Amino acid sequence: MGKPTGFIDYLRELPADRAPGERISDWDEFHYHMEDPKLRQQGARCMDCGIPFCHTGTLISGMASGCPINNLIPEWNDLVYRGLWREALDRLHKTNNFPEFTGRVCPAPCEGSCVLGINAPPVTIKNIECSIIDKGWEKGWVAAEPPKTRTGRKVAVVGSGPAGLCAAAQLNRAGHWVTVFEREDRPGGLLMYGIPNMKLDKDKVVTRRIKLMEQEGIRFVCNCEVGRFLSAKQLLDDFDAIVLCTGATKPRDLPIEGRQLKGVHFAMEFLTANTRSLLDGHRNGNFISATGKDVIVIGGGDTGTDCVGTAMRHGCKTLLQVEILPKPPMQRTSDNPWPEWPKVYRLDYGQEEAAAKFGDDPRIYLSTATKFDDDDHGQVKSM
Ligand code: SF4
Repeated sequence: MGKPTGFIDYLRELPADRAPGERISDWDEFHYHMEDPKLRQQGARCMDCGIPFCHTGTLISGMASGCPINNLIPEWNDLVYRGLWREALDRLHKTNNFPEFTGRVCPAPCEGSCVLGINAPPVTIKNIECSIIDKGWEKGWVAAEPPKTRTGRKVAVVGSGPAGLCAAAQLNRAGHWVTVFEREDRPGGLLMYGIPNMKLDKDKVVTRRIKLMEQEGIRFVCNCEVGRFLSAKQLLDDFDAIVLCTGATKPRDLPIEGRQLKGVHFAMEFLTANTRSLLDGHRNGNFISATGKDVIVIGGGDTGTDCVGTAMRHGCKTLLQVEILPKPPMQRTSDNPWPEWPKVYRLDYGQEEAAAKFGDDPRIYLSTATKFDDDDHGQVKSM
């Protein structure tokens, strides 16, 4: 704790975002970076708590509290305050293989459990994390580090999402020869196709890391669905060990009348096709277009928000987001005390964009779909 009065001297501050009305015309990331002096002030707000709840990942009342991968948050907050960015990066990498992913897409339960959050806005942990790793890449500090010796053992990792990439990185670091099998045409799983480009840039962020892993000796085999194009027996014959990191890609359906109608899609069909088409140049038209359409997004979580942001970039005519839960309060209630995940109202990027274009937060609460109506030609017309 370099500055004992930092949490009194400085207010919580985040970098500006590109204006919602401007950013919906492209697929680029929308957070600006903060200048170093301001970031150091934000690092100074950390109190280096005796019990740093921020890095004690646990479940409280069924919700994540603190960092699930136990990032050494107070340590790198202090190093950032002191301007020791390289050292901060080393501390960050001790617990986190890919901070450029978590620093962009993690919902930050660390901030929900930050002790400062008891009576003041919490430390901007997520933004500091993202700034440390982005600076590391910019300065060339994040470089390929192939293992010095090889064990001669071969490991197959099935699936190249976050878990598969982490498993591959750790096993490779231990000296094993690692091959990652991916059924899609590009590696990354959810990072590549589940999360839209404006939240996590595919070329500049995801592919950059995968290329580094290749330089470290990891082999990626895409378009290869294990169990279909490659049998379990063949894997067992060819490798000493197999790690299954296949994710949970089975969607939860809504079995109501009219579900089979044209125009009703799962989120991942919409998001995956959009990103694939975007990366292929958007010329092939192989995506579900929301252009000029009246769009309803069912579900008020992060994936729903990503669908809202994607539909906004397509240029939808209207947009409504349906949330089954009640509208959250602006502040914590007494039955949701710190350090639980704060169940409070948030305006995420997608809703912010919809509000900028249509004048209001697109969400309605305590609602769900009970029936989709047919336009007599097999196309959904209302809900
Ligand atoms: S809980 Fe908050 S103030 Fe305390 S060490 Fe963690 S980030 Fe710093």
